[in-house]
Amino acid sequence: MNIIRKPQGTLDILPEDSIKRIFIEDEVRRIFSNYNYKEIRTPTFEKTELFKRGIGEETDIVSKEMYSFHNDEFTLKPEMTAPVIRAYIENSLYNTSGIQKLFYISNMYRHERPQAGRYREFSQFGAEAIGSSDFYIDAEMISLGINILNNFGLTNLKIKINTIGNLDERKLYLEELKKYLSKHLNNLSETSKKRLDINPLRILDTKDKKEIEILDDSPILYDYLSDETKNHFQNVCKTLEKININFEVDFRLVRGFDYYTSTTFEIISDDLGSQNAVFGGGRYDRLVEQLGGKQTPAIGFACGIERLMIILAKRNYDYPKQYGVDICFVSLGNEARDFSFKAVDVLRKSDIICETDYLNRSIKAQMKEANKLNSKYVIIIGESELSSGKCTIKRMSDGEEKEIPLETIYKINKSNLHSIV
Ligand code: AMP
Repeated sequence: MNIIRKPQGTLDILPEDSIKRIFIEDEVRRIFSNYNYKEIRTPTFEKTELFKRGIGEETDIVSKEMYSFHNDEFTLKPEMTAPVIRAYIENSLYNTSGIQKLFYISNMYRHERPQAGRYREFSQFGAEAIGSSDFYIDAEMISLGINILNNFGLTNLKIKINTIGNLDERKLYLEELKKYLSKHLNNLSETSKKRLDINPLRILDTKDKKEIEILDDSPILYDYLSDETKNHFQNVCKTLEKININFEVDFRLVRGFDYYTSTTFEIISDDLGSQNAVFGGGRYDRLVEQLGGKQTPAIGFACGIERLMIILAKRNYDYPKQYGVDICFVSLGNEARDFSFKAVDVLRKSDIICETDYLNRSIKAQMKEANKLNSKYVIIIGESELSSGKCTIKRMSDGEEKEIPLETIYKINKSNLHSIV
């Protein structure tokens, strides 16, 4: 019979990778808490309407990448901002504090064409600060993201920032952009031609060389923004400079969601291929209102964990090692196996990582297994040990052995483990 394989674009996270992810998640949680962000978890699926209204029907995500089911009523979450804002409104979090600083670590689902660094199920950590339009919070968001990446030793990353104004400010610009691009229609890709009517801002995101050349002479959004928006952006830039964050202003930086307003940012790494963004975010001052809440300014970012891990692997990042086994019990005969099983049960409750044999193997095979598991100690139990009431504990690093009474086994704990032999 042929074997059943995992769906395309998904990952099996085997123990070796699991330990790396747990480490990343622990570090991320630690840094978020230094900035006083609190963890939020939301359902894996939401009403489809949430993403349609939140992200925008014309975006790539909503128009073609959603995993929807039950007559399209529900959708596996493709991103976390809309769910977090839904939860913020539904649970009246605005009543508990003037500003809510929330973070998440969660899986996301997008029906994209799988390739290196792009999956259909992937995970992100991210933050949302809801309730403040202060430029300091924009700077904090960027600083928080960068500090997380720096914490993993990643320093030569490129931070791009831009401001895209609000819907009203963009209106006139989009008309001008459309006019300009219509003159170059013959040189636009099919995707861009389609976007021209539906979502022209996304054309700025093109990777096509010819289109990039065309865009070089196109109108610039920044020129169409209000003084207030420009001032906010200048303040964000100045604040970032004050805290020594190097960034690049990129007036063509746009993001794939309709909810963004004002500040947008992205972090890219040369260690990633064509999918070079590891981290992206921005301000979304209208989303709370769009989802039925009161007008509330907010800002957030998301970072892809798989992409972060690709960069760390390229740089040979030294992850902490998997916990080794403290004691392996090697036992021969039914009574000895019975004794060992009871002993590991007791020791595990004292936080000693221990293992015993489940395959009724020979002493030699069990010793080999103990070596393979990198066990620090081995305790050998056989008929003679049971009748004499004494057994041998062996330190595997240097072969040193000691005879101990069987009762001593039950007294082993984390603090005396290394003084037994
Ligand atoms: P976005 O939510 O599209 O702004 O993406 C934020 C970050 O999530 C990106 O910079 C990537 O690191 C990661 N990401 C987005 N889509 C995918 C995907 N399909 N597979 C893996 N990572 C992704």
